[in-house]
Amino acid sequence: MTGFNEPAPTQTALLLLGRGTDAGSERGVDCPGELPAPSDPNLVERARAAKEALGGSVFVLGHHYQRDEVIQFADVTGDSFKLAQQAAARPDAEYIVFCGVHFMAESADILTGDHQRVVLPDMAAGCSMADMATASQVEQCWEDLTAAGVAADTVPMTYMNSSAAIKGFVGREGGVVCTSSNAERALRWAYERGEKVLFLPDQHLGRNTVVRQMGFELDDCVLYNPHKPNGGLTAEELREAKIILWKGHCSVHGRFTLDCVEEMRERKPGVNILVHPECTHEVVAAADHVGSTEYIIKTLDEAEPGSSWAVGTELNLVRRLANAHPDKEISFLDRTVCYCSTMNRIDLPHLVWALEELVAGRVPNQITVDPETAKHARAALDRMLELP
Ligand code: SF4
Repeated sequence: MTGFNEPAPTQTALLLLGRGTDAGSERGVDCPGELPAPSDPNLVERARAAKEALGGSVFVLGHHYQRDEVIQFADVTGDSFKLAQQAAARPDAEYIVFCGVHFMAESADILTGDHQRVVLPDMAAGCSMADMATASQVEQCWEDLTAAGVAADTVPMTYMNSSAAIKGFVGREGGVVCTSSNAERALRWAYERGEKVLFLPDQHLGRNTVVRQMGFELDDCVLYNPHKPNGGLTAEELREAKIILWKGHCSVHGRFTLDCVEEMRERKPGVNILVHPECTHEVVAAADHVGSTEYIIKTLDEAEPGSSWAVGTELNLVRRLANAHPDKEISFLDRTVCYCSTMNRIDLPHLVWALEELVAGRVPNQITVDPETAKHARAALDRMLELP
């Protein structure tokens, strides 16, 4: 079968070097360390040696969207929730090195024991979607809902891809966390407890789930824009809505368009279009299969040899899947690069630096969630774990 055709690089590729700061973010920050040079020919050997020296005291988690050069050192790979669970299942590991983004490391800190320390190799590895909902914005939204007389009938829900502060808010207000695998179950749970849902921070996952899987109309959804007074909505619109979607999105999955789908079908007749539910509703509606990262992996694992697929999710993962299945034709849905630039900030120099710091007895870039926030966030996560 054909090999994987690498999409053409765009300006996004310039963000891949994992350098610089993220000063605009609430998390802020850059990496304080003396990083090894990316050209150092011994990086692989250094990472291996540091990991060996740390032995069972370190557990390295690798998100599916991480670079190959980092994934090769992961003790386990998975999506954000699976990785947090894996960290919690390793109480003997004193150090959890999370090769992923900031909100994932926070979730790992919430779910692991007090004696365990979670390290993010580059503090500027955030998530643009998670950053689209800040605690103060969400508190303001809740005040708006209260003023409109709907907060008491609204259950707040947040996608895993949100800060600990947002999970804490949701937990405090009786709501639940969801993943892209269980969003429908979590929404049904919420509608047993309230008339409306406030869905944070990914509008597309919320909209796609209620419309595709729960029979809602698009008109049942309203979009709360945190940058406008009252979210840009009237009190009546808030009262009429069945679901209030937060105006956030994933900058990676948001790049796939209906044109990409149509062009792919023209280029490859018979192709199966497989996309993540963080894509826009029109892309999801035009696709053949829709599901979480784990669903995408399983679908391609089980696909017939010789079948043709175009996949709309992060490029590192699609490339690895294409290489793992040379008997199937697996293409990337977009013609241009679609890496997650913040995921890509974790590169081998950052991983080597973090591991060598640990060997030297220093804990770099530790992620901690304050106990009060962690308590409420944990309640929202526990509700998710108890979903039927
Ligand atoms: S792929 Fe999207 S949701 Fe995932 S970390 Fe990157 S920006 Fe955030």
